[in-house]
Amino acid sequence: MIRSAQRTERVAVVGAGVVGACVAWNLSRQGAEVVLIDAGRPGEGVTNWSFSWANASNKTVTRAYFDLNVAGMEAHRELAGTVGPDAWWYPSGHLRWADDPAAESKLLTTAGLLAVWGYRTEVRTGAEVRRRLEPALAVRDEAAVVFYPDEAWVHGRHLVGRLVEEADACGAELRSGTAVRDIGTGSDGGVGSVGLADGTRIDVDVVVNAAGPGAHAVAALVGRELPMRREPGVVTRLGCARVPVHRAMHAPHVEIRPDGDGSVVLHSREVDALIDTEQGPADLARLLHAEARHVVPELGDSRISRTRVVERPIPADGFPSVGAVPSVPGYYEAVTHSGITLGPVLGRLLASEILTGKSDDLLTGFHPERFSG
Ligand SMILES: Cc1cc2nc3c(=O)[nH]c(=O)nc-3n(C[C@H](O)[C@H](O)[C@H](O)COP(=O)(O)OP(=O)(O)OC[C@H]3O[C@@H](n4cnc5c(N)ncnc54)[C@H](O)[C@@H]3O)c2cc1C
Repeated sequence: MIRSAQRTERVAVVGAGVVGACVAWNLSRQGAEVVLIDAGRPGEGVTNWSFSWANASNKTVTRAYFDLNVAGMEAHRELAGTVGPDAWWYPSGHLRWADDPAAESKLLTTAGLLAVWGYRTEVRTGAEVRRRLEPALAVRDEAAVVFYPDEAWVHGRHLVGRLVEEADACGAELRSGTAVRDIGTGSDGGVGSVGLADGTRIDVDVVVNAAGPGAHAVAALVGRELPMRREPGVVTRLGCARVPVHRAMHAPHVEIRPDGDGSVVLHSREVDALIDTEQGPADLARLLHAEARHVVPELGDSRISRTRVVERPIPADGFPSVGAVPSVPGYYEAVTHSGITLGPVLGRLLASEILTGKSDDLLTGFHPERFSG
């Protein structure tokens, strides 16, 4: 059973990362009474330790997932038009290249598929990229470099800050620094209240679980098992006098993007694979830094400023879990990897589902009930 708009008096959104902030903003601007609760500070969870690349080129595993991510990119552009791009939205495209023939051929095959699916894709040479886009790159002149002009990077923490501000202006309440410890039952056996670590209890009709990597623990508060994968990642920030790159890129062995004034973010799936070995975060950061200096020699002058190992919030089958859980009236999930790309579209679609009782076709295949029973 999905509760109707008339019954929705108060919504608790658990988690003020990019996903929860997008849900809270969409609900509050449509008149719902929202309380946004975070155990820590808004935007300082995984959202602040993400490569933060808004894309669909890396989402070709199924057509439905690709389409959802394309909608995510479109929702970002709309959001930038509505709340302003401020310091969060950087639509500068994305570069990707490889350093061995097999990987290059795979990259070009994917680019070909994406072009057939109507995704804007350009194949350039390394020399051209250096001349026109990124003069600081040490890329071979003849390398094939794929450029996805519609992709972007997002400053997740700034985006959350902006949305929390906008939600506040629409009457939403923020409770930060206190975790949701229990979810009480209402008269119909569904959601009735949330109990916080600071001892307060808030009566609500709806709870949205947007707790990122903590989502399985919040699901357990309503007796639900939300299976999630363990897939940690390591992200390093560099401090540099001048940021020598203008956009996000997948170079061989390392991903690099600007992060605002005097800062660059590094990540690599190859380095993530070393997280559970004897190498600590500082060793992994040094590996990332060495790979990045190889691609952008000017980063030789940079220094490692902060490194964090974080868990990706990934439901067990790798796809988002978004929408109502019919067996627990009033309880909804918004749990996903690629939450930077997907946050704005999922926030819009889930708010609409909560307020109208209807789920959008884009969410078919991503409903939480696939994990029930
Ligand atoms: C290494 C790495 C690289 C990534 N790269 C990309 C990328 O390039 N593009 C992309 O789209 N995505 C990427 N992602 C994924 C993306 O960052 C996440 O999907 C997204 O940030 C998740 O946002 P969230 O709001 O769900 O979680 P979070 O930002 O973690 O927010 C959840 C919040 O819930 C709070 N919380 C938890 N439990 C409770 C509780 N009981 N009570 C109250 N509050 C609670 C936490 O304090 C936290 O602030 C990457 C992730 C990683 C780890």
